[in-house]
Amino acid sequence: MLVSAKEMLQKAKAGHYAVGQFNINNLEWTKAILLTAEEMKSPVILGVSEGAGKYMCGYKTVVGMVNGMLEELNITVPVALHLDHGSYEGCLKCVEAGFSSIMFDGSHYPIEENVAKTKELVNIAAEHGMSLEAEVGAIGGEEDGVVGKGECADPQECKTIADLGVDMLAAGIGNIHGKYPENWEGLSFETLDAVQQLTGEMPLVLHGGTGIPDDMIKKAISLGVAKINVNTECQLAFAAATRKYIEEGKDNQGKGYDPRKLLAPGFEAIKATVKEKMDLFGSTGKAE
Ligand SMILES: [Zn+2]
Repeated sequence: MLVSAKEMLQKAKAGHYAVGQFNINNLEWTKAILLTAEEMKSPVILGVSEGAGKYMCGYKTVVGMVNGMLEELNITVPVALHLDHGSYEGCLKCVEAGFSSIMFDGSHYPIEENVAKTKELVNIAAEHGMSLEAEVGAIGGEEDGVVGKGECADPQECKTIADLGVDMLAAGIGNIHGKYPENWEGLSFETLDAVQQLTGEMPLVLHGGTGIPDDMIKKAISLGVAKINVNTECQLAFAAATRKYIEEGKDNQGKGYDPRKLLAPGFEAIKATVKEKMDLFGSTGKAE
C-alpha cells in the first residue's frame, strides 16, 4: 500500500540520511526502482512530473500500475507516489487519482499567492492523509516546461511557508535541474544553513540531484536535507546502456529485438544508479 512521505522523511531527518525521490517514466522505470528499494531495504519516493503523468496516460493509470506492482512484486518497504512540481490543478487531480503525496510548486508566484495556494493544499492533503511538499525560490534549469533561474531562497519566506504545515520544503540553494553547467558555482550551504535554522525539524528537499558531487550531497544532508530528487541521472544511465546494446548490434542477434531484451540493459542501469544513490544518501537498510 502506498504511504504518505511524512513519516519516512521525519525519520530520515532525525536519522541524518535522505530518502531518494526517483522519477518514473514507464513500467520499466517503476519496476526497476521498486525492486531496488526492496533489495536495499530502503524507503523510496516515486516522482511523477505532470509531463510524465501525461505520457503514462494520466495519473489514474500511474496509480493503477504502481499499486499493481506493490502487490505483484511483494514490496514491503515504504513507498510514496508523489507528484513532482505540480500546479494547483495538477495537485487536485492527483488527490483524486490516489497519489499519496503531492508537491505544489508555487515558486513562480509572488510569495503572497504561493502562501495562499499552499495553505489551501495543506488542508486538502491533510484531509486525505497525504504529504505535501512546497517550494520557495525557483530551482534552476528546465523541467517539463517549468523554467527556473536557480536562485537562492529567502530563508524568512521559507519559514513562512514551512509554518503553514507542509511536510517537506524545497528551497532553492543554487541547485539546477538536468546537467550542471561547467561554470556552476555549487550549492549555497550558507542559504541551506539559514533555512534550516529557521525551519527546525522540517525535512528539506534537494532538487536536481544529478551531478552534484558526493561531498556536497553529504554536507547538504548534514544541514537538514532529508529528500533528494534524482531524475536525469537515471535517464542518462538508461540511454547509455541502450545505446551500447544497439551499437554492439545485439538487437540483430537472435531475438535481440524483443523489447524485453532490448530494454533489459537500460533497466539494469537504472537499478545500478538507484542502488548507488541509496547508499550515498544513507537510506539503505532503513526500512528493515
Ligand atoms: Zn525539481
